[in-house]
Amino acid sequence: GLKKREASVLVIGLDNSGKSTMLNHFKSEDQKSTEIVPTVGFNVEKFKARNVGFTAFDMSGQGRYRSLWEHYYHDCQGVIFVVDSSDKLRLVVAKDELDMFLQHPEIRTRRLPILFFANKMDVREAVSSVKVSAALGLERITNKPWHITASNAITGDGLHEGVEWLTNQIK
Ligand code: GDP
Repeated sequence: GLKKREASVLVIGLDNSGKSTMLNHFKSEDQKSTEIVPTVGFNVEKFKARNVGFTAFDMSGQGRYRSLWEHYYHDCQGVIFVVDSSDKLRLVVAKDELDMFLQHPEIRTRRLPILFFANKMDVREAVSSVKVSAALGLERITNKPWHITASNAITGDGLHEGVEWLTNQIK
């Protein structure tokens, strides 16, 4: 379950990986109806569910806004990294973004738990979470607790298991 103390979770991944669809499961009914107004080229979605604050944004296609989103790195206690398991071509791009994230000065030395969702597991072309893990080179992450689980953001399958792991890591 969610802990009493407030936590801030960063939800990242490439565009189209399923972040917004996933976040809808964590929102209350009135939060769902609020529209996300895009700021100049850079979309940040922020909301609170119980004691967890979520901040989400796309990591790709807006390289010049990188310094804006890196702004959110400092305050987070946990990370959700969403991957489209059916987009084999862009698994390489996702890996590049992950590497850059892991090398960032605000992230590199912290024991920050990272939850990976191998999302879109229902799509026929989707690769297994084991293959996503290999493609991203997750075994190299030795100074942070991490976990990968397959998910379907439309039905919500896998979300609970993943978030349960993450909230248990955030003390
Ligand atoms: P975002 O750009 O990361 O926020 O991605 P979205 O949440 O907007 O999702 C991108 C597209 O993928 C939308 O058409 C979603 O309906 C679809 N989608 C998201 N998650 C899944 C999933 O688990 N399975 C399938 N089949 N489609 C998904």
